Formats: sequence, C-alpha cells, structure tokens
Amino acid sequence: MCGEMVDFRRNRDIISAMKSTESHLCFEGVPVRVRFSARRRRIGLAVERQTVLLLLPEGFSMRNAEILLHDHQNLIQRLLRQDRQVSVMESPLDFRIGGRLPLLGEEYEIRLETTPGKRPRFDGVCFRVTAADPAGIRRQILLIYRQLAADVINDRVEALAARHGISYGTVKINSASSRWGSCSAAGNLNFSWKLVLCPEPLLEYVVAHELAHRRQMNHSSRFWQEVEQLCPAYRLRRKLIREEARRLRSWRELS
Ligand SMILES: [Zn+2]
Repeated sequence: MCGEMVDFRRNRDIISAMKSTESHLCFEGVPVRVRFSARRRRIGLAVERQTVLLLLPEGFSMRNAEILLHDHQNLIQRLLRQDRQVSVMESPLDFRIGGRLPLLGEEYEIRLETTPGKRPRFDGVCFRVTAADPAGIRRQILLIYRQLAADVINDRVEALAARHGISYGTVKINSASSRWGSCSAAGNLNFSWKLVLCPEPLLEYVVAHELAHRRQMNHSSRFWQEVEQLCPAYRLRRKLIREEARRLRSWRELS
C-alpha cells in the first residue's frame, strides 16, 4: 500500500449527518472506498491495488469527500503510479519449469531433474526439481529456499559473532512475513527464510542487527553504534530492506 497522511483537521462546518461506515464512489475512473471511523481524527489517503482508500472521521459528508479528492488529485495520481510500480515488482513467483526465481540478489531458472534418485535442490546454477506440476514445484522450491536460508543464515551468524566475540543461543528459521528477524532476551535468534529472496547485503544487515541486540536490547543510539561496528554500511541497507519489506508482504502466502 502506498499511503500518506494528509494533515487536514476536521472542519465542523462541513460535518453532515453521514453515519455509514463505508461508501463507494468513482473519481475520474478510479474506484474509491470511503471509510468512516468515529475514532479517526485525521484524514487518511492511500492507494491499494489501484483503488483509492479514503479514511475519514465520522460525520464527514460525501460531497466534502469528493472535494477532498479533487484537492489532492496530484497526490492521488502519484500514489496510483507508485502502486502500479509495486504491483509489477510484486508479481508472484513463477513456479514453472523454465521460470526464474530470486535468490540472494540473483535470479535462477527452475529446471526439471531427470536423473532418477536425485533430490530437489539448488546446485549453484539452477533450482532442480523432480515435480513437473506448479503445486509440486512450489512445494519443493519452498523446501529448498528454507534449507538455503538455514545454511546461509547460520553461516553468517557464526562468522559475524565469532569475529566480534558475541555469544548467542539458538538460531531458528521461521516463515515470518511481518519481521525479518528477532532476538530474545535469552539470546535466541529467529530469522525469516524469506531473507534469501533479498540481495545478500540486506540479509547480512539483518544478521548484524539481531546480533547487535546481544549488546543493546533496544533501539537506542548506542544500539545503532553497535550495528555500525558489525555492519558499517547499515544505513543504506536498512533503508533498502524497508523497501524489500513491501515485497515481503506480497509473499505472505509463501509459508
Ligand atoms: Zn531490532
């Protein structure tokens, strides 16, 4: 979702008796969903799947909603453009023989393994699967991704922790879509396997971030100093991984 808050104070003069919680309208050919909430103080405007979402305080009239849309035409056009770009970027993974899949910043082809007795695997050149149907390919690819994630992440954690003398508990790989990694108070580290869908420097940043929590269990400036020790280029990577997070949300169905 590409959203932006418009700081637009509730104007008591234009409040009508509008009570519905959701209405629909069309603005220059674009569908608009208007949602009203009693708790909302500010106006929210967002674009999701080429639909405008307008969040309004309860009591706002539809006429004024339309005026608001007109007043923010440029913003709406910009959000629609951004949403189209995100949609292209978030095209679903292609689980077909010959399809190409991301892995640590590169793309690799899916090929059918024809040698009997061979297991599905990534061989450094391509993903080799033994199933030919999309559902079977998908299942095998997800297992391969998970195994690769466990190998790569364990390796990076071990190396970085050893270099900086940091201790930690267990390393677990999960399917989280809402966070890349976490560190418990006991020092156990959790990472989403989906990190291997990102370029490698971003995976390394997340490893550095979680290991830095072994020294600072917070996000204070001292914590970020620790992160910088472990990953000097962390600022840019942190920014980039936030953009990747948008893609991650579209991979939610990949468990
Ligand atoms: Zn953190």
